[in-house]
Amino acid sequence: MRADVITIFPEYLAPLDLSLIGQARRRGVLDLRVHDLRDFTHDRHRTVDDTPYGGGAGMVMKPEPWGEALDRLVAGQASRPVLIVPGPGGMPFTQAMARELATEDWLVFGCGRYEGIDERVYEHAAHLAEVRVVSLGDYVLNGGEVAVLAMVEAIMRLVPGVIGNAESLVEESHEGGLLEYPVYTKPASWRGLDVPDVLLSGDHGRIASWRHRKRLERTAARRPDLLHTASAITSADLESVP
Ligand code: SAM
Repeated sequence: MRADVITIFPEYLAPLDLSLIGQARRRGVLDLRVHDLRDFTHDRHRTVDDTPYGGGAGMVMKPEPWGEALDRLVAGQASRPVLIVPGPGGMPFTQAMARELATEDWLVFGCGRYEGIDERVYEHAAHLAEVRVVSLGDYVLNGGEVAVLAMVEAIMRLVPGVIGNAESLVEESHEGGLLEYPVYTKPASWRGLDVPDVLLSGDHGRIASWRHRKRLERTAARRPDLLHTASAITSADLESVP
């Protein structure tokens, strides 16, 4: 998969060189490129913002550098990317969306700053890409970079070849709509706290039903809103949770 990130803080994306995503980049599974929006300005101060028309607080990102950056990266290419613009007013980012985006060949991320990007950029970009405004959650960040780090990691770890053991992706939180069961490792007893006996039993059937039970209980306690839409749940399960 190819991904391009456009930002005024390329250093913010440095963590994408670490850990599994970094390894996948070095192995050539992911082609991730970070671009400085200021490289598409032409004035001495490399200006990317200006005051808002209509007045009001803060600054707005100017359309020209965005237009040039998108033209340079996307125009005239054989394929059309999905352009993801993080924003608190966007569609909520979910595991289902990450799964869908992980099947794309090419993603472009545009990191907003200040009060956001001039609205005409979205209109222009729609000629070049499938544009999606995506929110990390119902709160406001200073810029899109943190959101892109989170989205890139959630999407890329689902790209085949990025994570060595693909099975570890199957039973995770939000897969099937339930949260993950509690996990334990050695030692079996630590500070007077014991690993549940069932996990030491070697009985795979009992372990599987214990884990399913725990997923239900945890989801009911922490995210009851998920219970009624989860696919990994039966009506008997629903009746049994508190
Ligand atoms: N004035 C904007 C509003 O109220 O919608 C908020 C601008 S915010 C200070 C600056 C940038 O941070 C946004 O353009 C976006 O790129 C990013 N951002 C802020 N909150 C976000 C969120 N919850 N999800 C994704 N991106 C976010």
